[in-house]
Amino acid sequence: MIPFNKPYASGKEYEYLKDAVASGKISGNGKYTKLCQQFFEKKYNFKKSLLTSSCTDALEMSAILMDIQPGDEVIMPSYTFVSTSNAFVLRGAKIVFADSEKEHPNIDCNKIEELINPKTKAICVVHYAGNACDMDKVMELAKKYNLKTCEDAAQAIDSFYKGKPLGSICDVAAFSFHETKNIISGEGGMLAVNNENYINRSEIIWEKGTNRSAFFRGEVDKYGWVDMGSSFLPSELQAAYLYAQLEELDTIQNRRKEIWNMYDAGLKNLEEAGKLTLPKIPSYATNNAHMYYLITKDLGERSRLIEHLKKDNVNAVFHYLSLHKSPYYKDKHDGRELPMSDFFSDTLVRLPLFYELKNEEVQQIIDSIQNFYK
Ligand SMILES: *Cc1c(COP(=O)(O)O)cnc(C)c1O
Repeated sequence: MIPFNKPYASGKEYEYLKDAVASGKISGNGKYTKLCQQFFEKKYNFKKSLLTSSCTDALEMSAILMDIQPGDEVIMPSYTFVSTSNAFVLRGAKIVFADSEKEHPNIDCNKIEELINPKTKAICVVHYAGNACDMDKVMELAKKYNLKTCEDAAQAIDSFYKGKPLGSICDVAAFSFHETKNIISGEGGMLAVNNENYINRSEIIWEKGTNRSAFFRGEVDKYGWVDMGSSFLPSELQAAYLYAQLEELDTIQNRRKEIWNMYDAGLKNLEEAGKLTLPKIPSYATNNAHMYYLITKDLGERSRLIEHLKKDNVNAVFHYLSLHKSPYYKDKHDGRELPMSDFFSDTLVRLPLFYELKNEEVQQIIDSIQNFYK
């Protein structure tokens, strides 16, 4: 069976894990945490990077930093992972779900302004499949209405919007290193802070609401409880694994892009014949090869295709179900129809894409899809 995902280890991970253990410090904010954070700050110009135990954690930190209060409204796409909305729901926010674009699961930036009212506090975009949302539009609205902004960049490592690194555009951004992402540490994430006013507070929230980091830098002579916070930092073991992956970033990205391009070339004829739709990368976005997905005609066809692939020993999956229709939120949603979100919920299929996937396996998957549409 070709699995949907297989977590990759370059080999260096074990060496760095051993080194971390031998150093006598495996709790958080040590050598490897700092190496990882510096890597991101240097390469992508994030003003501050803080490793977290997950992207979910980084999103929760974002909601605290943005000072989201009960009753505040936060606009985000309905077609996303639950953590995007949970982070704000935990602070008492009302989520105002927006629809996806016609050609892409990303939030339709032309449909945001009509959702803004005096209670609107923030916009949280999701760069689906690592492809940028139309950020000029988002930032223009944020400026016009004085809104805070957040990027769910869980899938968006090493990807760009008009040359700007994703994660460097909004006040804050959240990345994921979950084993299904491009660069991994099992579970893991990172908060990127770009709003200068959030920098000091971000470190405090990260360290359980204490000014412990400033204390260890010698900036204050004692440390204590100065704000709300939680234990958001990962152990050095996760950071050591992650650092080995970051050193291999280009190798990993290049192989993923090769696989992505093989799929795209191998399935093009089916799109030309009107049988299915392949991913569309907006002109202002780059492709970081996080995901290869297909759009089928309808739900029935998707189910049959997944079943067919399974018979051919290929594990393909679908994912998000519109959050505005979820058991938890359907009664809280304002009743607006979000047809594109529902459409992608019903029709999108993700194909296996991982570093160690072999060319012959990619070809086998392409052949199986070709046979299905014959
Ligand atoms: C993976 C993912 C998350 C959650 O990441 P974790 O690190 O597992 O918490 C959040 N949002 C999106 C869009 C994701 O793809």
